[in-house]
Amino acid sequence: MTWQATILTLFPGMFPGPLGQSLAGRALEDGLWSLDLRDLREYGLGRHRVVDDTPFGGGAGMVMRPDVVAAAIRDVAAAGRPVIYPTPRGRLLRQDDVRRLTSGPGIVVLCGRYEGVDERVLEECAVEQVSIGDYVLSGGEMAALVLLDSCVRLIPGVMGSDASGTEESFSDGLLEYPHYTKPASWEGRDVPDILLSGHHAAIASWRQTESETATRVRRPDLWAAYRRRTGQDTSDPVS
Ligand code: SAM
Repeated sequence: MTWQATILTLFPGMFPGPLGQSLAGRALEDGLWSLDLRDLREYGLGRHRVVDDTPFGGGAGMVMRPDVVAAAIRDVAAAGRPVIYPTPRGRLLRQDDVRRLTSGPGIVVLCGRYEGVDERVLEECAVEQVSIGDYVLSGGEMAALVLLDSCVRLIPGVMGSDASGTEESFSDGLLEYPHYTKPASWEGRDVPDILLSGHHAAIASWRQTESETATRVRRPDLWAAYRRRTGQDTSDPVS
């Protein structure tokens, strides 16, 4: 069955954007996934198709109305397809989420604009809120593209080598080891000898050590979780 993405947006022209190129673009052409774009403006109210209003309690900016957003969600809702709202207020998107979303029939992505979406519709429609990082974008479209790209590349048949999806950063809770290619010596920098040795077990062990070191130094949060998961740290989890 084709993995189906529906995007609710005020800017449908931003899609497929970069997802029309390269792996995702080819997969879209080959029918490995489908993209259904819905202009939120079409669910807007009155002659001017209004989708937003001023915030209760005052403050800057506008808020997307719950009745408009609910009409759009209910129009496209399909069993088994979660509705995802990218927002800085969401929990951080992780590779585990991406794997879960890719293993289902697809997703509906609600792209926020202005100050965001009325909280009630997020609760009422059981919308899942995810953030793509601790910074603020001007709209949810870029975040939707990031989310879609991360999902589409895991659809079976999209990536050339099936191993690429299982041997990469986060697949085992660690960052990936560093990569090297030709030339073996470049501007006075040599590729680590072990990679030229042909000893597969030794190379695998070196890569594992490099992965662990990079994770410990760069991402102490991931390192702590990895150590707990692998039984190397038996103290109580902090989160
Ligand atoms: N007032 C919001 C806040 O402070 O949390 C920011 C609203 S932002 C200008 C407009 C839209 O961009 C959001 O509704 C959301 O859809 C999207 N967005 C912005 N930053 C994001 C992030 N880090 N991750 C996911 N979506 C984001």
